[in-house]
Amino acid sequence: MACDRSNAGNENKDLVTTFAPNLNPNTMATNRTFTMIKPDATGAGHTGKIIDRVISNGFTIKAMKWTQLSLADAQAFYAVHSERPFYGELTEYMSSGPIVAAILEKDNAVADFRELIGATNPAEAKPGTIRADFAESIAANAVHGSDSDDNAAMEGSFYFSQRELA
Ligand code: UDP
Ligand code: MG
Repeated sequence: MACDRSNAGNENKDLVTTFAPNLNPNTMATNRTFTMIKPDATGAGHTGKIIDRVISNGFTIKAMKWTQLSLADAQAFYAVHSERPFYGELTEYMSSGPIVAAILEKDNAVADFRELIGATNPAEAKPGTIRADFAESIAANAVHGSDSDDNAAMEGSFYFSQRELA
């Protein structure tokens, strides 16, 4: 006789809520941000130095992977920028080589991470920021950082499922 799995999803949700409250799928984390180390930085061998900078500034890694975006993936990820003049260049660049995607945790994660990476244009980024130290140009600017809690959650779920968080 076939097993009735119609309630399986709800059972799993209850188990998650009971035994792993930090992974409760019904609550949106406000202390997380999402980052990518971009192809210029992975290609130049800066990955380890950037991860070290992130950890030593108080961020905890919740999930991380080395991967490469297809052009279609990059277009989907940056759909919010599709009307901006640099969209074509940005999506081609972001799919041109490996990236490291990660979900990071810290109090005030989104704002603190934007502070740590510095301005979009590395020429304007404060000394000591990741972009000032590792970025090549306004397009090839070493790292991505989410600009809001909602976007951090959406961008994180573009790459990671709940079971990949630790
Ligand atoms: N970008 C670009 N030219 C510009 C502005 C942005 O190539 O004039 C790229 C750059 O890689 C940047 C990304 O598009 O990181 C997203 O732009 P946004 O304005 O969101 O900057 P960010 O939030 O990354 O600082
Ligand atoms: Mg942005």
